[in-house]
Amino acid sequence: FALPVAAYMVQEQEAHAAAQNERTFIAIKPDGVQRGLVAEIISRLERKGFKLVAIKITVPSKEFAQKHYHDLKDRPFFNGLCQFLSSGPVVAMVWEGEGVIKYGRKLIGATNPQASEPGTIRGDLAVVVGRNIIHGSDGPETAKDEINLWFKPQELVNYKSNEEKWIYG
Ligand code: ADP
Repeated sequence: FALPVAAYMVQEQEAHAAAQNERTFIAIKPDGVQRGLVAEIISRLERKGFKLVAIKITVPSKEFAQKHYHDLKDRPFFNGLCQFLSSGPVVAMVWEGEGVIKYGRKLIGATNPQASEPGTIRGDLAVVVGRNIIHGSDGPETAKDEINLWFKPQELVNYKSNEEKWIYG
């Protein structure tokens, strides 16, 4: 347990570097796109210090929407939700950074915008649960599944940004 200080610091840096590779799936739903909120939403995630590693705009089919929301298939709003997600362009993204899955959800805010805190994306920019403008994976397993559903591996970009040393130290 008595590692020399230098070795301990290297271990710390490596743990930090691995944590920085955490990825989540975030999508701006058709209401967010139609309302011209794409740049606003991307800007909030960028300014936080998270890194955009994949992005596309696409109109998902209803079948695709059903796959994306398969966990909710028994909920009464499932059909309307899938209909809505496939009703127009969606901006699908993968964001990377330490704690991005959990903190991404914090930036997004509670599912119902009436309960979302001011300062969150849904709190500041949406009013009702059926039009809450954005989706974010709710845990490591769903993040992995959703990234795989929406993106091919070659659509994910690995790169270093110069800002990282100022964000992570
Ligand atoms: P979140 O998107 O915050 O992870 P859920 O996974 O519970 O929330 O629900 C997925 C989406 O289904 C929500 O973002 C919202 O668009 C929609 N939804 C959830 N609850 C309702 C509801 N009671 N009525 C209509 N739509 C709902």
